[in-house]
Amino acid sequence: MSDDIPFDKTFDLAPGRAKEVAPRVRAIVANNAGPFTFKGTVSYIVGRGKVAILDPGPADDAHIAALLDAVRGETVTHIFVTHTHRDHSPAVPKIKAATGAKAFAQGPHRLARPLHIGETRRLDASADMDFRPDVALAEGDVVSGDGWTMEAVPTPGHTANHMAYALKESDLLFSGDHVMAWSTTIVAPPDGAMSDYMASLQKLARRSEQTYLPGHGAPVRDAPRFVQYCIGHRLGREASILHRLGKGPADIAALVKAIYIGLDPRLSGAAALSVLAHLEDLVARGMVVTTEGPPSIGSTYRLVEAPLAAG
Ligand SMILES: [Zn+2]
Repeated sequence: MSDDIPFDKTFDLAPGRAKEVAPRVRAIVANNAGPFTFKGTVSYIVGRGKVAILDPGPADDAHIAALLDAVRGETVTHIFVTHTHRDHSPAVPKIKAATGAKAFAQGPHRLARPLHIGETRRLDASADMDFRPDVALAEGDVVSGDGWTMEAVPTPGHTANHMAYALKESDLLFSGDHVMAWSTTIVAPPDGAMSDYMASLQKLARRSEQTYLPGHGAPVRDAPRFVQYCIGHRLGREASILHRLGKGPADIAALVKAIYIGLDPRLSGAAALSVLAHLEDLVARGMVVTTEGPPSIGSTYRLVEAPLAAG
């Protein structure tokens, strides 16, 4: 989709088998590969003996059985959830039932902004509306287990409740779907918001962890630099949108066509929502307006006339 980010699309985990991917961390991938999930959701097991499971994954009995098999003889004391998409959190109830562990997360699924009149949620099917954490976490909260310490790092944008977790002992960050090595993340209103996403990238850019373990695909290496690429990529998209609008008003279909060259047709809906996310942000910043009504998927957009420079 873009050449400006140094993506890493290597991935050598086969579904169902746990593998150590970092000190104190085992990874196990679900068999749910797809255009949005890459090779599948990666669940993580943190620690040894008394462990945490991070992102138990989809409601897939084979994956749940494989996860429980991987921790056979160990005690699962905590469950962490990065966000409430159906490929990350629906396995929580069965893992809780099997282990008695409590679930930690930012909160239930929620929208980044209220719905406009007549607006429907286009990616509604992707959300796990049933999930409720046993313990709600906020910025900087620290949860300790046997030999591991996790710091909660709220990273809204992909979803409003997206939470990353820093594993202090191993100097790494579980980045969920916020930062991934294989692809940019989807930022789709009303569940996601571009202004939040950019602020969350800036937050990570100020952190020191060199390795991120994401919800899909291989670890992110040289992570602070990769985050800068992600920021630059979105600023480039924003510039492309402004450039196209500089030629005259346009709707989202025209903007997608102008900006995304060689787009996988399966991702065209997501691309449209991503452009909407940028436009909402540009409207909020006073740079773009709609020709009518609130910024929506069907609106036409135009640049705000630049005020004459003083002096
Ligand atoms: Zn997601």
